Parts: sequence; C-alpha cells; structure tokens
Amino acid sequence: MAESRNTLAPLTSRAKQVSNKRMTLVERLYLPGMIGGMLITLRHFFRVKRPTIKYPEQKRPISAIYRGQHVLKRDDQGRERCTACGLCAVACPAEAITMVAAERKPGEEKLYREEKYAAVYEIDMLRCIYCWDCEEACPKEAIFLTDRIVQADYLRKPFVFGKDELVEPMDPAKRVDVSRRQTADVLQFKQVKKHAHNR
Ligand code: SF4
Ligand code: SF4
Repeated sequence: MAESRNTLAPLTSRAKQVSNKRMTLVERLYLPGMIGGMLITLRHFFRVKRPTIKYPEQKRPISAIYRGQHVLKRDDQGRERCTACGLCAVACPAEAITMVAAERKPGEEKLYREEKYAAVYEIDMLRCIYCWDCEEACPKEAIFLTDRIVQADYLRKPFVFGKDELVEPMDPAKRVDVSRRQTADVLQFKQVKKHAHNR
C-alpha cells in the first residue's frame, strides 16, 4: 500500500519536503520568536492610524449597496404595499420570513393597498443572510433592504422583527429612504426581462 502511494504522481506542485532537522538550543528557547512577535505588537501599538473606531459614536462610510435591515414600504397614500403573496418567503434561502395573510375589511382601504395584506410579517434577523432575494422577488415593491445596521443584542428574541419594526412610519417625513441603494446598476438589473414583474 505504502509503495503504491509513493509511485502516485502529485496532484499539484505545492507539496513541500518537511525537514526533520533537530532544533538548536536557541531555537528551543523560543526567545527569538517571542521577541520578534513582541516587536510586531509594539510596532502596531504606536501606529497613529488605528484600524479600530469608537462605534457607535463613530461610523464608517458604507457602500451605497450595503444590505442592512429590511423595511416594508407604504405607498404615496400611506397604505401598506405588501399583499402577503408569500413570494419573498418562498425566495428566502434562509427561511427567515414568516407571515399570516388576512383579508382587508371595508373601511380599511386607507391602510392596505390590496384586498389581502400581511396581518403578521416577521423576519428572523439571525437567520437572514442579507442576500437580497426577498427584495428581488417582491412583485409589489414592498420590501427593501436598507443601509440601516441591525443592532446587536444578548437575546435571540429581539432579532425576530415584526411589523412594528419593519413597516415604515405613516408620516411622510419619517419614511425610510431606499433610493440610495437603488443605484443605476440595481435599477438596470431590475429591468432585466426575467425580473420584469419587479417594476
Ligand atoms: S435578505 Fe435573503 S435571507 Fe434575508 S430575509 Fe431576505 S431573502 Fe431571506
Ligand atoms: S413583501 Fe412583497 S413578496 Fe413579500 S409577501 Fe409582501 S408583497 Fe409578497
């Protein structure tokens, strides 16, 4: 068996011969290695430009297409756009979205744009991988990822975002602006024929 292994040609040229040389006394003391490591630490310690920042007081600039916390949008008249069709939940690879659909009652036309709406809509942000598939799948321009960062927490429960956290405020002045993420590239992508439903 050992013989046949030796005769096999290596699959790559990355194999290296390992030396069996015995370590010298100095090498066995590990001092040169330790001193070298400490010098590297000291060099970084006195660097003026630090890689860390004092978050949340300081924030780094983020990309225009950064994918953060979702928003469920309202239309111009303040009605919820989501019609609880479930396409976002089906498209979600992490199975992070759950919802319960309900029928709009007479008198609720000012609240919900369609005859069906999401009475419950939840996203488990611990499962979400911010892939954007839900936004892409939505035929009603109802769900968008935004540039808002999901805050850290010690418990799991606060990461299940319900409608109270997802639906944007009714007040037009407090609406969540998603235009920054709708870059020319994103808009162009949405014009692709096979995504034509998403206009
Ligand atoms: S961004 Fe992706 S993983 Fe997160 S809820 Fe949407 S489809 Fe699911
Ligand atoms: S967010 Fe869009 S895709 Fe998801 S249920 Fe509502 S309308 Fe359908």
